[in-house]
Amino acid sequence: MQAELISVGTELLLGQTLNTNVKFLAEQLASLGINIYFQTTVGDNRERLLQALRIATGRADLIILTGGLGPTEDDLTKETLAEFLQLPLEIVPAELEQIKSLFKRSDFNWTKNNDKQAAFIPGSSILKNEIGSAPGMALKNGKQGYLILPGPPREMTRMFLQYAQPWIKEIFQDELQGILYSTVLKFMGITESGLEVLLADLLHQQKEVTLALYAKTGEIQLRITTRAQNRKDFAQKITPVFNEIKKRTTAYFFAQDDVTITDVVAQLLLKKNFTLSTAESCTGGMLAESLTAVPGSSAYYLGSIVSYANSVKARLLGVPQDLLEKHGAVSREVGMAMAQQIRVLTGSDLGIGITGIAGPEGGSPEKPVGLVYIALATPDTTICTECHFMGDREIIRRRSVLRAYYLIWQYLQNTL
Ligand code: AMP
Ligand code: MG
Repeated sequence: MQAELISVGTELLLGQTLNTNVKFLAEQLASLGINIYFQTTVGDNRERLLQALRIATGRADLIILTGGLGPTEDDLTKETLAEFLQLPLEIVPAELEQIKSLFKRSDFNWTKNNDKQAAFIPGSSILKNEIGSAPGMALKNGKQGYLILPGPPREMTRMFLQYAQPWIKEIFQDELQGILYSTVLKFMGITESGLEVLLADLLHQQKEVTLALYAKTGEIQLRITTRAQNRKDFAQKITPVFNEIKKRTTAYFFAQDDVTITDVVAQLLLKKNFTLSTAESCTGGMLAESLTAVPGSSAYYLGSIVSYANSVKARLLGVPQDLLEKHGAVSREVGMAMAQQIRVLTGSDLGIGITGIAGPEGGSPEKPVGLVYIALATPDTTICTECHFMGDREIIRRRSVLRAYYLIWQYLQNTL
């Protein structure tokens, strides 16, 4: 089965907006076992969209359009699809009421041009937009399925997962037998090559189940893929290899699929009843931001001091002045003192200290850009890792945050 993606929007052609919708949709369709041979981007232009629809209809079973669903005149995706299929668009009163009430609740004034967001091809399925005003539409016309999704990525992804994907599975049931399923295992504290050596025999077996390694920032991913009838069948098929991988990588394997290191650490802190606080220098609060992005983090996260200047490290955090003078702000000693001090000041069980040189300036032969000390103070001891990260400022800072998570994860895993 083949699908084709049509992205509608002149801003995409001009490079003003990066087309992230196709990345998401292409991945989603691949995971359903649906092939994509072509992706088209077309401006907000009726004739060229008609042309794109004509071509796509000639070579794909499922055509997914995103964008051009808004109320303004240049939003013409639904109208153009209706015209192409020679089908009418009719206002659905319940939808109109829905959109009107949305306007009432917000402070925006209703204008007549919003009407068209409530117009659909009779017989189509209306896909609810939980976080925006424009609903989507799905319909089967002859052999083809057509899906119209909104442009804004958050609205699009949510609508796809909640409504469009189940629709595709139902409409194309027969075509989707024995599709490709995959799962992604995530590892930290080991390099891609290190993992390859550990799993060499499994990686090269390549029979029915295939394995592939990918290096991502701060973590390595391993994708396990095979054909299966359904998720349960898939889980059964990969169990032997999955168990073998887990057995060999207990020190590194931390999560699967959408679960992040932040989620894992959050769950462990909760489960083991530990509280945490952080003292950050070169990451400027990124770790605190990421920790508090998790709902319910107040149960275990106490707070942070962003001690960027030496004076703040000394006066607010209480890092001894002589440590700063003797070893410099970027040093093992100061990293450890930061972790210990924040732990004492907040009364938390665990304290993290991060100090390093994120660059691009500020490096020296002894202390190059990318040198970061990450320390963890616990009730019994303080440990500190000296990291030498590659990459630009942004990457070095992100890697530092991830490594801090790794330290906490390692500690909690081995703690009762
Ligand atoms: P529209 O549905 O055409 O009103 O799209 C609204 C907004 O969604 C646009 O201003 C874009 O910023 C965004 N958008 C539309 N299409 C895409 C896409 N393919 N990828 C990422 N963002 C998009
Ligand atoms: Mg648009």
